[in-house]
Amino acid sequence: MNTLDAIVIGGGYPGCSIAYHLAKAGVKTLLLEKNEISSGASGGNFGCIQVQDASLGLSLDLTLRSFERVMKYEEELDADLELASLGSLIAATNEAEMEELESLYRGKKDAGLDIMLYGPKELAQAEPNMNHERFLGATYFRQGRLNPFKLMYAFLRRGRAYGLQVREHAEVDRLYLEGGQVKGVVLADGEILRATQTIVAAGAWSKSICRTAGLHVPVEYVRAEGFVTEPLKPFLNNYYSSASFFTEAHDVDGVGMSLCMGQTQSGNLLIGETSKPGHVPPGEASRLTSFDHFVKVKEAVSEYFPALAKVNILRAWTTPSPYTDSMEPILGDVGMPGLLLSTGFKSCVIMTAVAGDIITDLVTKGETFCDLRSFNAQVTRL
Ligand SMILES: Cc1cc2nc3c(=O)[nH]c(=O)nc-3n(C[C@H](O)[C@H](O)[C@H](O)COP(=O)(O)OP(=O)(O)OC[C@H]3O[C@@H](n4cnc5c(N)ncnc54)[C@H](O)[C@@H]3O)c2cc1C
Repeated sequence: MNTLDAIVIGGGYPGCSIAYHLAKAGVKTLLLEKNEISSGASGGNFGCIQVQDASLGLSLDLTLRSFERVMKYEEELDADLELASLGSLIAATNEAEMEELESLYRGKKDAGLDIMLYGPKELAQAEPNMNHERFLGATYFRQGRLNPFKLMYAFLRRGRAYGLQVREHAEVDRLYLEGGQVKGVVLADGEILRATQTIVAAGAWSKSICRTAGLHVPVEYVRAEGFVTEPLKPFLNNYYSSASFFTEAHDVDGVGMSLCMGQTQSGNLLIGETSKPGHVPPGEASRLTSFDHFVKVKEAVSEYFPALAKVNILRAWTTPSPYTDSMEPILGDVGMPGLLLSTGFKSCVIMTAVAGDIITDLVTKGETFCDLRSFNAQVTRL
């Protein structure tokens, strides 16, 4: 294979989106995925187009810029993505969470977001099946949801029409360096693939890949567990998540319990729990959910949604969900020629449009519309 313009490592949301955007811009691009497309966290999530959990500042600016485009993806990608508008509630069960929620609410309101703060009474109207005695309040914003698999495959289908090449079961062993520059990748079987730009979009695995180029990329991960129930009659009006996500879920010493729940078009409930941060490299063994966490989820669900105490769980999974301590992603140039990063996203669906635009700008023009140094200062040389 001749030298490529770009290699993208990782077939999750950002990798597929970037590959599509690059190919559309005429960049000769190869996407490499060590397993199958969407086999990481992007295949184990709920497809919510999250707006209200963005951090203030650049994250929120990019989120709002992306939101409008993501909500029109079906048109752009010419595909049925099961895209729908959906309310989102982030609810607090104690004073500390309520304080955090109120502060986030004020910041987001000031930034122009049409967000609302609910007390127990409004919450009872919004979600009659919640145990209102256990909640102090919630923030509400109308955002959206789509089918994760349909989105990633739509990116690839459209990308292929523009010449995108995709290789699954192609594991990158290390970045290929020449004269202090990244010039491509070395695959696990020893094959060297050369490219002018290499983009690491490998989620929880980004840290170890970038270490091979002498970079410390502080992307950690939580072992997040997901559960799907038997189909129910309409039960939830909104996507629910616990405000503890902001306070505890990514704290290595935290309790590691942050419940979220949504109902699919077919009636199944998707229940998610953020469990303990991982301390070992994410491998196949970490796919299994743990009995301890299952018990914790059952207790929390029964407490906050009593009518679900006896609901049947059909399937469960665990996936390494990436994050950074700053809760900000790493996106774009990190000071190593030939290398760009797109990783560490807390919520990823919403960022697919801007990540695609930014990386494509950097590859084709060497500059983009915003200053990303506040994100990328997290990266240091080893
Ligand atoms: C239960 C749950 C619910 C969630 N709900 C939402 C939600 O509703 N909305 C939302 O926006 N976010 C949600 N998230 C978070 C979201 O899933 C992640 O932010 C997102 O999937 C991260 O995408 P990624 O591409 O960075 O990582 P991944 O999806 O993990 O992709 C990385 C890919 O890189 C590949 N790879 C790794 N190493 C190599 C290598 N050496 N060579 C080649 N390929 C490699 C992996 O196999 C993997 O496919 C949720 C997460 C969980 C766990």
